[in-house]
Amino acid sequence: MPAKIAINGYGTIGKRVADAVALQDDMVVAGVAKTKPDFEAKLAVRKGFPLYAATREAAAKFEKAGLKPAGVLEDLVKVADLVVDCTPEESGYKPLYEKAGVKAVWQGGEEHSLTNLSFNAAANYSECVGATFVRVPSCNTTGLIRTLYPLDAHIGVETVLAVMVRRAADPGDSKRGPINAIEPELEMPSHHGPDVQSVLPKLDIHTIAVKVPTTLMHLHAISVDLKRPSDAAAVLDVWKRFPRVAFVSGADGIKSTAQIIELARDLSRDRSDFYEIAVWRDGVHVDGKRLYYFQAVHQESDVVPENVDAIRAVLELEKDGRKSMEKTDRSLKIGLAR
Ligand code: NAD
Repeated sequence: MPAKIAINGYGTIGKRVADAVALQDDMVVAGVAKTKPDFEAKLAVRKGFPLYAATREAAAKFEKAGLKPAGVLEDLVKVADLVVDCTPEESGYKPLYEKAGVKAVWQGGEEHSLTNLSFNAAANYSECVGATFVRVPSCNTTGLIRTLYPLDAHIGVETVLAVMVRRAADPGDSKRGPINAIEPELEMPSHHGPDVQSVLPKLDIHTIAVKVPTTLMHLHAISVDLKRPSDAAAVLDVWKRFPRVAFVSGADGIKSTAQIIELARDLSRDRSDFYEIAVWRDGVHVDGKRLYYFQAVHQESDVVPENVDAIRAVLELEKDGRKSMEKTDRSLKIGLAR
């Protein structure tokens, strides 16, 4: 019997996780819950996902909009083995899940302290096997862990300085900004460094973030002091073992995040999603023990495969992280962009 997965919050992340769950043979979408009967709710129905209202008040709005909900969230959690919570940060559903005795996976808008266990498939799958609650860190944090964990495991990392140029809003979000300014995050370090340490506690990392008027992707400029001298070829060889790191090249005409999204479209990726972290092959420079590189992060989709693997770990559908990742990657065609 495939595991029954509920998705609470069917927005940017929730709708992608639902589609990815639907592609797996060991799990099914038991239903999706929403607060608003908007176009995303209507599309969920068209895709055949049972649609639930988050609350009784929301159910009344659904009825009024001509959408008959299958029930409310409390009904959905009773028929699910696990909830993937993709609601906005601090929506506060933990007591409801605890009362229902259902396992849950949260997203990076939540603090690590909500679960005391943050997940990255390559870095700590085995620690999360059989857990009740885990959190998949944010898109930026996941992006940093994807490239830094392999470097630390295979070469050794002394210290990291990462400067993150963050997208202002997602493409479908017309409320957020800035639309004509560059906004520094004045907190130092930005929250991303400590967040990386929620998965890699021993990594010495410092992060700086600025927000810019773009919607496509984030870009990271990263400087790493390695534990031993290396060269660009050896660093690329390490990343080649990790299919969720993809290589792009300025020499091929991929000069910016715009061409990475074009590549995703040309690969016929759903919604032009790019699940891998894109590293510029010709932007990797090593000077003795100092490594510099650039990477781009598709904020709407890089956490999607991690959510699928987190479900498998928590529900013990697969105890071997590598096997789970291979299965997820095959289903999402990850690895084709190399
Ligand atoms: P979103 O606003 O696109 O979607 C949120 C969804 O939850 C919407 O469908 C909304 O109708 C629904 N919702 C709102 N309040 C709710 C409630 N009380 N109960 C049930 N449903 C509710 O948000 P998102 O961008 O998908 O973010 C969800 C989580 O994922 C956050 O923790 C966020 O930090 C994290 N995250 C977002 C991104 C990104 O780039 N968008 C990347 C990684 C992680």
